[in-house]
Amino acid sequence: MKSILEEYKCGKARLLTMLEESDDPVVKTVQPSLKTGRKWKVTEAVDEAKECLKIKEVIGQTQRGLGSTTAKWWSKTEMIIDEIRNKEDSTRVQKADQQPQQGQWTNWDTAIQRSLTWNDIWHMAPLRISFLIKSVYDLLPSNANLVRWGKKVNLTCPLCQGRQTTEHVLSSHKVALSQGRYTWRHNRVLKELASGISTAKGEIHPSSTSSAVFTTKGKVKKWHGGSITINTHRKGLLDGCDNWVVSADLPEWERHPDVIRKPDIVIHSASTQQIIMVELTVPYESRMEEAHAFKEGKYLDLTKELKKDGYEAKVMPVEIGDRGFVVFSAYGLLSKLSIGGNKRTKAPRLLDETAENSSPWIWRKIRRLLHKD
Ligand SMILES: [Zn+2]
Repeated sequence: MKSILEEYKCGKARLLTMLEESDDPVVKTVQPSLKTGRKWKVTEAVDEAKECLKIKEVIGQTQRGLGSTTAKWWSKTEMIIDEIRNKEDSTRVQKADQQPQQGQWTNWDTAIQRSLTWNDIWHMAPLRISFLIKSVYDLLPSNANLVRWGKKVNLTCPLCQGRQTTEHVLSSHKVALSQGRYTWRHNRVLKELASGISTAKGEIHPSSTSSAVFTTKGKVKKWHGGSITINTHRKGLLDGCDNWVVSADLPEWERHPDVIRKPDIVIHSASTQQIIMVELTVPYESRMEEAHAFKEGKYLDLTKELKKDGYEAKVMPVEIGDRGFVVFSAYGLLSKLSIGGNKRTKAPRLLDETAENSSPWIWRKIRRLLHKD
């Protein structure tokens, strides 16, 4: 997460320095005005970074010569950016610890740091990036925040009488729940996950058999006394069987086998009696561990029953944070299903984008309901 705001700041700083250092006299003389919001001023940050660099240069800390001949403004820009990053980095932890509210993201132990590049941010709609930043730093105008900012006296949610925090709106609002809004988000992510798993199953090779090969004195000899089974790749959950069927609890998908109804996704092989149940939750990020433990417990009895009936059963809870933070459990699942390389990078990205895309919509819907009265 740390880098969303940082990349934003660095991007703005880069743009400003490039405009300032431009060879084009017109661009150079026009004082650029870059919109960055009230709290953080790009010109001030760049000036501050330049000052820092000057001091460092004087005391001999910088190795690359600043402002020298044709090393060009690229390196200078990058040095300024570096300086801003340094500052961001040191204030980040400090700030997070001081402010319990905005420090929440430091508690997302299980969430994998989501690092957005400037390119990502460049391609994100302004509203989307603004929602992401505001929701992660808990700066959305929920009633609890409005009370904190002195703009309201009552933090109760008028629709369901709960404490209206960001978490409340994004994941535990009773009206949103009853209207199926969280289910809608859940199912959008589920669809991506099921598709990802489905493609994985198509790539599974049954355990390969090959002749044992011996090397003696640099010469390769083949063993001719029959073949030995060697697993040529790391053992994945789907290895050794090639008739897996993936079903999902979604209207357009194949239905679950009769022995099992509940989970979100079932990967099963009738001939080998193996069942892998995947249960997806899209919780508020600080509740991911809780969600994982809950789902594990929920399926304990069912797993035991299936085992009694002779099945090899396994339940795999997976969490994708409601603001797009993929957890180790999701990476773990993909890796156990032997989804590798490009796909393993792409799949979580699709999952987190889908979750993160859906949440602003839920937020807006609820705000609209609230402002009806
Ligand atoms: Zn409510």
